[in-house]
Amino acid sequence: MDRPKLIRLVADGEGALISSSLLVDLDDPYEIPSALINGDYGGLVLDLDLEESALVSMLTEVRKEPATSWLPVLCSSALHGDLVYLTDGVVATTEEAIGVVTEMRRRVSEIDLDALSQGREYRLLGYLYGRTSDIWPVLRPTSHDLYVYPDADFLGGEGDSARWLRNMRERGLVGNGTLVDRIRRCPSCEGARLNYVDVCPGCGSIDIAAKEFTHCFTCGRVAPTEEFLRGHSLQCPFCSTMLRHLGSDYDHPLESFVCNDCGLRFIEADVVVDCLDCRTRSKPEDLLIDSIHSYRLTEKGRSAAKVGSIDDVYALLDRLNYVVPAYFDQFLDWLIMLNRRYPDEVFSLLGIRFFNIVEMSESIGRQRTSQLMDSLAGRLRQLIRGTDVSTRNGTGILWLLLPRTDREGASILEERILALADEVVVEGVPKPRFCSSLFSVSEDLLEGDTAALVLARLSGDLEGS
Ligand SMILES: [Zn+2]
Ligand SMILES: [Zn+2]
Ligand SMILES: [Zn+2]
Repeated sequence: MDRPKLIRLVADGEGALISSSLLVDLDDPYEIPSALINGDYGGLVLDLDLEESALVSMLTEVRKEPATSWLPVLCSSALHGDLVYLTDGVVATTEEAIGVVTEMRRRVSEIDLDALSQGREYRLLGYLYGRTSDIWPVLRPTSHDLYVYPDADFLGGEGDSARWLRNMRERGLVGNGTLVDRIRRCPSCEGARLNYVDVCPGCGSIDIAAKEFTHCFTCGRVAPTEEFLRGHSLQCPFCSTMLRHLGSDYDHPLESFVCNDCGLRFIEADVVVDCLDCRTRSKPEDLLIDSIHSYRLTEKGRSAAKVGSIDDVYALLDRLNYVVPAYFDQFLDWLIMLNRRYPDEVFSLLGIRFFNIVEMSESIGRQRTSQLMDSLAGRLRQLIRGTDVSTRNGTGILWLLLPRTDREGASILEERILALADEVVVEGVPKPRFCSSLFSVSEDLLEGDTAALVLARLSGDLEGS
């Protein structure tokens, strides 16, 4: 690979790095974003002292622009504040900068750079793909989420990095790195700015006070100790008995709080939690517990960066009398109930898991994979009936629900579907591999089964195979 040229932001050529034919000097930060887009540069070196805000606004533009979002940005001296998250570290020489840039270019050369313009998700995947470092959370006490991920915010630009990354984690594109903190969130708005308040367990008032109480053994009454004080001795305000000996004349009950609103005495106050953002009041045990991690690319994220999302390849299967998963579950539940009432109403459920779509995509490209899946879907369509319904989940399992089909009928269909793997073979293309799991009612129905339980059981079989 050619040695890439770098743009150097420098005033009068007087930077810390020695001038070199590999450095193209510019002194106006506002020219940099367009220079990076229009020229074939390997990255950017900041080699001058400039006001932070000017650098931040320039770099924000660089990170947001798909073509330059992944580029390395190095500096000749340590930076502070947000600039730390917008840059890739300090270099002492041009050679060192070229080394970092070449390595990052080598990594990024494996991915589909055109996909970066398809949305912020690809920009983040591409950015992580080029780097070995995680995306780290930074504590921002005044923010709604409490922790933010500045790198992601600069790439995504919507100020919702914590929620965005959580969503990407749920979809398996990024995974947890290092555990940084554990915080509690409001169950209503997920805000983390919470105020814990002691309240009266009787009426919920916050107007409570800590008090010592005295219990008179003669009349049995209890009152705050201050009401018993007569100079240096204790006298019961109710029966006037002089209380001399702790333990034989009087004692102090365990209650040590009094509510100024309802008068209740109690040992321990209740604790409630007020959300400072949405004002919802919750019990501590109802708060959501959230672990704060750094994030890194997963295998699925790496392959999504390489070949783009494969969701749309799977989506080709949605022509098979597709219904959304929630409706599919309802329909399956209904068939289970129907069978419990009318045991003659049999049905079968067939799960088909595709193993190697990602690998196929990596080896033959997304377009050819799509074509292959398209012809596979066409063949599948010929095999199923108008009354069968299908759905699919994110992990590449196609579900077919076959009403009025017993085990024998379903097995025949299953065999035909598995045989398709051989029929759609294209020269020079790896064979699609899939496995299946079959569930027939009433043979396989367990007591207490619901749609969710049945699907979980079959998914387990499929994932394990
Ligand atoms: Zn809230
Ligand atoms: Zn008394
Ligand atoms: Zn009270």
